Amino acid sequence: MKVPVVKEILKANDSVAVENRETFDRARVLVLDVMASPGAGKTSMLLTTLDRLDEGVRPGVIEGDVASSIDADMIAARDVPVVQINTGGNCHLDAPMVRSALPHMDLDNLDVLFIEDVGNLICPSNYKLGHHYSVVVSSVTEGHDKAHKYPGIFAGADVVMINKWDLADVFEYDLDFFTQGVRMVNRDVPILPLSSKTGEGFDPWMEWLHTAVGSIAPVQTTG
Ligand code: MG
Ligand code: ZN
Repeated sequence: MKVPVVKEILKANDSVAVENRETFDRARVLVLDVMASPGAGKTSMLLTTLDRLDEGVRPGVIEGDVASSIDADMIAARDVPVVQINTGGNCHLDAPMVRSALPHMDLDNLDVLFIEDVGNLICPSNYKLGHHYSVVVSSVTEGHDKAHKYPGIFAGADVVMINKWDLADVFEYDLDFFTQGVRMVNRDVPILPLSSKTGEGFDPWMEWLHTAVGSIAPVQTTG
């Protein structure tokens, strides 16, 4: 009798996710759920992305963590609006948690909102937040077997990154093997090796992002 209970929870979550989406669409803000295991480099990827955003694109960030505001503080140091959600032990964000953060965000003055989900390759992909796209950040240091081992999160990804690409040689990273794992569950998703540290490989990602932002939120021209 466990399955019907889980389904009810997800149904309640999904209805709040629909409300969130309506709120995002009304404000014309692109929303991305950024998912990864702990230490894959979600925050450093976001910091490098923030540094490379086109002039006039106004970002915001929701940081999901079990505890602490370490990541949010780094984002805030960039003068980017950020709200921290501490899940108090929960291993994923859900739509009501995101909803509770929205009153603290001036959505009308944002073009793109990054939601950094809790570090975990399993359940975050089961919870719709109302976001438009899912970005999964894998990394060289965690190994090339992640898509084989955790297919669920890769199946729903709209972009897959392989962060820490500057270490690929040292770790003898097998890109073909990783790609094969992703392709078993997701035929078309872009797979982007990149390094948040060196900036290598960021151009295709920034192009994808700017195109997505442009399709939802017309960029305000200043001056
Ligand atoms: Mg982080
Ligand atoms: Zn969870």
